[in-house]
Amino acid sequence: MSDGVGIWRCKACGAAYFPERLLCSRCHGHEFAPDRVAEGVVEEITVIRHVLGQTAWQPRRLANVRTVNGPRMTVGLRDESEPGTLIDLFQEGNAPFGAAKAAP
Ligand SMILES: [Zn+2]
Repeated sequence: MSDGVGIWRCKACGAAYFPERLLCSRCHGHEFAPDRVAEGVVEEITVIRHVLGQTAWQPRRLANVRTVNGPRMTVGLRDESEPGTLIDLFQEGNAPFGAAKAAP
């Protein structure tokens, strides 16, 4: 079971955001309630192969994820999931990560 990733939901219209916004872009509301999303589908993968000034950098995979009932977000991928994979979302500190759901 995944703990999910914290998101913010507009109290007026229910639109979901990650990261938090000052104003809702749908209704211009400014009150948000914390919520969580626990899974999403990988839409696109980006591999960060080099970072300026880092000599011992290991390639990292970032995924654009369409969350279930939540916003799109970019998460660090912990495995070799490809686009179309349903992944569990979790958080380490404030950073969101994802990995494929364990086979039942
Ligand atoms: Zn709103």
